[in-house]
Amino acid sequence: MEISVIGTGYVGLVTGVCLAHIGNEVTCIDIDKEKVNTLKKGISPIYEEGLTELMEENIKNGKLNFTSDYKEGLQGKKVVYIAVGTPQSDDGSADLTFVNRACESIAQNLEDDVIIVTKSTVPVGTNEYIKQKIEMDLKKEVNIKIASNPEFLRQGSAVYDTFNGDRIVIGSDDEHALELLEKINEGFGLPILKTDLRSAEMIKYASNAFLATKISFINEMANLSEKIGANIDLVAKGIGMDKRIGENFLNAGIGYGGSCFPKDTRAIISIGKQADYPMPILENVVDANERQRDILVDKVLNSYKDIHGKRIAVLGLAFKPNTDDMREAPSISVTEKLLEHGAIISAYDPVAIDNAKKVLSSKVTYATGIEEAIDGADLVLILTEWAEIKRFPLENYKAYMAKPIIFDGRNCHSLEAARASGVEYHSIGRPSIK
Ligand code: NAD
Repeated sequence: MEISVIGTGYVGLVTGVCLAHIGNEVTCIDIDKEKVNTLKKGISPIYEEGLTELMEENIKNGKLNFTSDYKEGLQGKKVVYIAVGTPQSDDGSADLTFVNRACESIAQNLEDDVIIVTKSTVPVGTNEYIKQKIEMDLKKEVNIKIASNPEFLRQGSAVYDTFNGDRIVIGSDDEHALELLEKINEGFGLPILKTDLRSAEMIKYASNAFLATKISFINEMANLSEKIGANIDLVAKGIGMDKRIGENFLNAGIGYGGSCFPKDTRAIISIGKQADYPMPILENVVDANERQRDILVDKVLNSYKDIHGKRIAVLGLAFKPNTDDMREAPSISVTEKLLEHGAIISAYDPVAIDNAKKVLSSKVTYATGIEEAIDGADLVLILTEWAEIKRFPLENYKAYMAKPIIFDGRNCHSLEAARASGVEYHSIGRPSIK
């Protein structure tokens, strides 16, 4: 099938590469010319395991192309995916500026009938709007069908998830569009759920809202566990053994971040407002997550009233492991607060430092490894549960710090290991080891 994918971010690039890999002829279109030039050389601008290899292979065999020219990118294509960003507006709703621009460019350059498939996360009803908008601006009379195909990949394992995810959701009110998309998606070998258009749009928001709720829930349980002397590891294990609850997404920490949960939870609250339906559960999920981000710095300040001039090593900057994405990463507010209190920060992340430099204060200095970051530090804060950070033995901190004190915002180490190591260790929802 001849396919265009509009937008080559985390979703568009992975979608385009994987669609090419299962045999389609794919042209990815992005307005960012510099990015397109990089992509044409087979270089991925994002860090995702396995992506570069698949890109190289499919560019070489002629299945995958990149362009910033809509006319060239849409020529002869039967299906056009929209995968541009839908960031948060000031009022919390999804900002459709990029979607609108993509629609205008599609309309001006379409030559043949197409199915437009929206991968971007968009408010319920947007697909119908997309169809109207494109039809209104068309230069040539062509037939347009629409479908929603929300994306569930996790950054950090996006390629793996594309071939091993739990389900593919395809929503359309048009039988032919549903059939064609089912055929295209069969190549991924995953269960396919076909729905109407609006239900597919809603499934995406409801999924992210539920996962965010699970995180805020376990964090609330962790905070209470700490106050009453329980251990959240055991509490999470005990509740997770109940199949109705499930063991995943029960890791206590300093809250969710990234480009999806924060904006999508706020967007569904905004959708509720527009439908005159308040959503108190989700409003509290969002508030609880905001508070959770402060919890580690609060712990530091409770233990050490004055951190002015203290050297603090921050380990992990990306919003989660295996990605270089810094969007809404808790490290942003944590480092700001530490700097406000006069701390001196040396930060390390295995892959996100280049992106971190764009969003963190210029007062933060960066280390090339864990050892360099913690060398001579007074305190260590762990903000992302990278395997490298989890694997770094707690005993080794003693070789670099006069008195190793660790505040672990992701519960990377067991309490047994902390006790045996002789370091001072504070974590989330578990007793401190001193
Ligand atoms: P991104 O910001 O990483 O990438 C968006 C890309 O679109 C950029 O390369 C940008 O240059 C390009 N673009 C913007 N306007 C364009 C236009 N008019 N024409 C062509 N290209 C244009 O975004 P992302 O993280 O890939 O997210 C895309 C969508 O997928 C969002 O709606 C997001 O909510 C959703 N989503 C993201 C994830 C994720 O993990 N990142 C997961 C599921 C769903």
